[in-house]
Amino acid sequence: MHHDVLIVGAGHGGAQAAITLRQRGYAGSIAIVGAEPEPPYERPPLSKDYLSGAKPFERILIRPAAFWEGRGITVLPGRRVVAVDPAAHAVTTADGAVLGYGQLIWAAGGEARRLACAGGDLAGVHTVRTRADADRMRLELPAVEQVVVIGGGYVGLEAAAVLRAAGKRVVLLEQADRVLSRVAGTALSRFYEGEHRAQGVDIRLGARVEAILGDGRQATGVRLGDGTLIPAQMVVVGIGITPAVEPLLAAGAEGGDGVAVDAFCRTSLPDIRAIGDCAQHANAYAGGQRIRLESVQNANDMAITVAKALTGAAEPYHAVPWFWSNQYDLKLQTVGLSAGHDTAVLRGAPAARSFSIVYFRAGRVVALDCVNAIRDYTQGRALVEGGARCDPAVVADITVPLKDLAAAA
Ligand code: NAP
Repeated sequence: MHHDVLIVGAGHGGAQAAITLRQRGYAGSIAIVGAEPEPPYERPPLSKDYLSGAKPFERILIRPAAFWEGRGITVLPGRRVVAVDPAAHAVTTADGAVLGYGQLIWAAGGEARRLACAGGDLAGVHTVRTRADADRMRLELPAVEQVVVIGGGYVGLEAAAVLRAAGKRVVLLEQADRVLSRVAGTALSRFYEGEHRAQGVDIRLGARVEAILGDGRQATGVRLGDGTLIPAQMVVVGIGITPAVEPLLAAGAEGGDGVAVDAFCRTSLPDIRAIGDCAQHANAYAGGQRIRLESVQNANDMAITVAKALTGAAEPYHAVPWFWSNQYDLKLQTVGLSAGHDTAVLRGAPAARSFSIVYFRAGRVVALDCVNAIRDYTQGRALVEGGARCDPAVVADITVPLKDLAAAA
């Protein structure tokens, strides 16, 4: 079977690439091949309102099933691509099928990292990356009283919030000295630690997991490096992802942590582009450093970059990064990348549960974290996009709207 465009990965990036190609009038054949059994669905609700049961699966589909057929997009779920042959322009799936392509878009994302310690594969130990993961958790939850969450990133914190709301006792273990250390500044970490503790989550920082204990089959608890035993019938593991690029690297693509792409998302292999979580690219908002961005925004915007390039309107990738996270009644929205900032300015009062933190590097605004502060988020975006130079004292003054600063910068 041959497709003019073959998309590997049925997540946000893969789906968006197919949608944008058709929107832009692309008339060739398009197929999306995905390892999971479902058509493309949204991943963010898996640790939020799909996990809580508030949203049924049909409401998290990226498009209704009829959409794909109606646009002439072939969706091939339940097929994992295990090998790529760039010379033959073909991929092989785990069940031995060979699919030819004219252009390959690699949008395979990543897989949840698993615990390496003893007991990491006992029943009751869960990662949260796929619908099947969330379904397994939901099935077990009624019989669970105590949960240990390992990892204080977005997955761990969002899952902890849902589990507390469901009345479970939750202990959250983070090996670093603060939660969200990979994505936010210290003040935001401290705020979220305080909120979770106020909700009854027992957060333990600097915690080293030594083993998951079990009765031979089912997890019964967690043992820490200092000997502490924490009983649990469920263990939720949110310790990051491993980019799914092995077949590309084995075929000779440049990369390491992910697959290397240029500003048009081209890998070093002919007619193969890569987008989303697995695409390591030079990012203007990270001072040109080569990074991977694990976000819906990045997956969608890279998909658009590729669709434009394949329809004769190539433009380099230059989208401003943004993220969001819902925990309890807190809506966090982030724009830009705060890593490497030298100054962080608080705008508003965390006690009022509506505030922003504005990050500067060498005098320029590089990022904002906005908690229940949608206006700062929408108005602050221009400051990040323009790399605005503004007076931190003025930024801290909540009577001055950020749009005034953007206009003046
Ligand atoms: P993550 O953001 O990489 O966070 C993982 C956290 O777990 C880090 O703080 C890490 O600390 C810690 N950790 C690692 N190994 C540990 C261990 N053995 N014991 C205790 N803590 C440990 O990854 P994630 O939260 O699992 O999320 C996975 C992916 O889903 C990411 O791409 C994330 O962005 C995405 N996601 C995003 C959202 C959102 O945007 N709202 C929501 C859910 C998921 P160190 O840094 O010290 O290693």
